[in-house]
Amino acid sequence: MDDRDLFERITRAVRPALAQGRVASYIPALAAVDPRRFGLAIADTDSRTVPRGTGDWQVPFSIQSLSKVFTLALVLAADGERLWSRVGKEPSGAAFNSLAQLEREQGIPRNPFVNAGALVVTDRLLTLTGDDRGTLRDFLRAESGNPRIDFDAEVAWSESRHGHRNAALAHLLADHGRLDNPVPDVLDHYFWQCSLAMNCRDLALAAGFLARHGLRADSTRLLTSSEAKRVNAVMLIGGTYDAAGEFAHRVGLPAKSGVGGGIIAVIPGRCTLCTWGPALDAHGNSIAGITALDTLTTVTGWSIF
Ligand code: GLU
Repeated sequence: MDDRDLFERITRAVRPALAQGRVASYIPALAAVDPRRFGLAIADTDSRTVPRGTGDWQVPFSIQSLSKVFTLALVLAADGERLWSRVGKEPSGAAFNSLAQLEREQGIPRNPFVNAGALVVTDRLLTLTGDDRGTLRDFLRAESGNPRIDFDAEVAWSESRHGHRNAALAHLLADHGRLDNPVPDVLDHYFWQCSLAMNCRDLALAAGFLARHGLRADSTRLLTSSEAKRVNAVMLIGGTYDAAGEFAHRVGLPAKSGVGGGIIAVIPGRCTLCTWGPALDAHGNSIAGITALDTLTTVTGWSIF
């Protein structure tokens, strides 16, 4: 099947899904997004091949928790296996922002993709980069080849204004002695990371190192192949909130979703995918995105299984 047929088939499958679900409404900037948007991009592992896509694949959106994949990779590249003493690698089975779970686990977050885990990873990134907020943005610009990628100050400000639960998680982590930097600094970095605006094309390209077994777009090494495998493994067990089992069942790929409606998915050795559909299901995953990836893997037979 050629790309045109594939995209047509996916677009047809997604159409009824666009009428379902609700956009995230905890901050005005996300609540205002049109729920009928849909985009899909595919970037091959060979970085000389031009990425392709359909629909709103070049329209920027709020990456939110997709940022957690990239911060994890940057910290893992520096810390290696030591990172796993600070944060676990188990499915959460609880809400992504659960305080009760963090307390039960004595301040060791279940995985790097629940918010507490991302705060621990952000704390490390802060230490490693000497508080440089630009490190993540510059990495994303370099991998996607798009120098216009930037933070959205309005989203970052709203996140911090409404971020009471994240603040509570950070304080709980600090109380357990799990943070090396002051809580306000860790929170500030976390909110700025979430506020980055990117499109499907750039995200599919930026995640390419996960399909290239750790190699960046310029063929230099970011992660060892086993570290890249570990990031993919954690995406599989915890990248789609507490519905990772259902997602694996339907799509069968390592993936990470965000409340901005984006999903990044990886087919190691073949390509990276990014979908965007702002309307979310009850777990916080994009309904259009899951439908699109479900259709794509069914039609192409691409799977890790
Ligand atoms: N900024 C959001 C929060 O921390 C990210 C949520 C998400 O995409 O999972 O609550």
